[in-house]
Amino acid sequence: METTEAFTGLRCVDCGESFDAEEATHRCPECEGILDPEYDLDALDVSRETFESRRFDSMWRYEELLPFTRESAVSMDEGATALVEAPKLADELGVGRVLIKDEGRNPTGTFKDRGQTVAVTAASQHGASDVALASAGNAGQAAAAYAARAGLDAHVFLPSRSGFTQKAMVNVHGGDMNVVEGRIGDAGAAYEGAMAENPEWYSVKTFVTPYRHEGKKTMLYETVEQLDWEVPDAVVYPTGGGVGLVGMHKAAKELRDLGLTGDLPAMYAAQAEGCAPVVRAFEEGRDVHEPWQNPDTICGGIEIPDPGASPLILDALRESDGGAVATSDQDILDSAVTVAQNEGVEMGATCAAAASGAWELAQRGEFDEEDTVVLLNTGHGSKDDDVLRSHLMSKGI
Ligand SMILES: *Cc1c(COP(=O)(O)O)cnc(C)c1O
Ligand SMILES: [Zn+2]
Repeated sequence: METTEAFTGLRCVDCGESFDAEEATHRCPECEGILDPEYDLDALDVSRETFESRRFDSMWRYEELLPFTRESAVSMDEGATALVEAPKLADELGVGRVLIKDEGRNPTGTFKDRGQTVAVTAASQHGASDVALASAGNAGQAAAAYAARAGLDAHVFLPSRSGFTQKAMVNVHGGDMNVVEGRIGDAGAAYEGAMAENPEWYSVKTFVTPYRHEGKKTMLYETVEQLDWEVPDAVVYPTGGGVGLVGMHKAAKELRDLGLTGDLPAMYAAQAEGCAPVVRAFEEGRDVHEPWQNPDTICGGIEIPDPGASPLILDALRESDGGAVATSDQDILDSAVTVAQNEGVEMGATCAAAASGAWELAQRGEFDEEDTVVLLNTGHGSKDDDVLRSHLMSKGI
């Protein structure tokens, strides 16, 4: 494998054992826990100038802090997305600045590309011929795209309610698409069955591969660098499995430990009221979620009733002095439309949970008037254009 210098291997978040990345590929061989890439940060000689001197052209410009070399990566120059000022929103919320990290500007239109570029690179370097995952839609589309680029076959399991765009594009990329009647749990069960029959398939599923949260880490590096190394006061993240939230929190600790920043941003998980296991666990002071019964939200990307990494998400919220917030689908869709009509930015329906959550947090007095608040627009509005349009129609517009 073409690993980077400081990358020392994979550490289990449960039992604490460390493993060589050549040998351990997915969950912990000892206890099935989540594996997390580890680095010897002391051995790294990087400064703010190291990164500033590079073109802002890809998330791989932070390769020292990623497991694989930029040169060996299966990449389409994902990341390096804009951080868009939203002054009207800042006025509305009564804070100093609101900035939208616009992940819609990725190769397949969502931040899932940041996870798949690293996961498919790992698959490729391990000599896999097939990758597989269950997904609400966007991760499946991204996996099909990166697998195509790497010359691998992608087996994608999507629930029937995932969006037309995502299904269509899995086909267009030549993926093996399996549409499963029902919801994400049903797609997950079909994927498990297929994996049992095809043990040689390389999983690129959320927190089964150690590399998706690792790729999503880069959203935080970029945000901080785009703010001239100022750490934002709050980051509001539309949370499903929590991959990006856990990754960004890890990234903030790495920048701090490298001496490049001083503080951690307060991380906020935004969910939909119809499926809010993380918010409930946070409010009840629990260390782990309880699976959500009867999930029901239009926000497919965050309709994750049983997020296996909830202990890591809850740790990140508490360690960063952040929080969790759930809002209704009506409020979420209204927020997407308000942002589109006032700031021009096209937020996906799922993503607008971050905007609507920030509104609610502001109302609760979570933010100070000088605060810099970053909202993650995890995917492009056009992925959900039908949902947003029919929301308008339901109001007679
Ligand atoms: C997958 C997805 C999410 C949730 O991401 P996690 O990191 O798993 O919490 C949010 N928004 C969009 C658009 C997504 O596709
Ligand atoms: Zn373990």
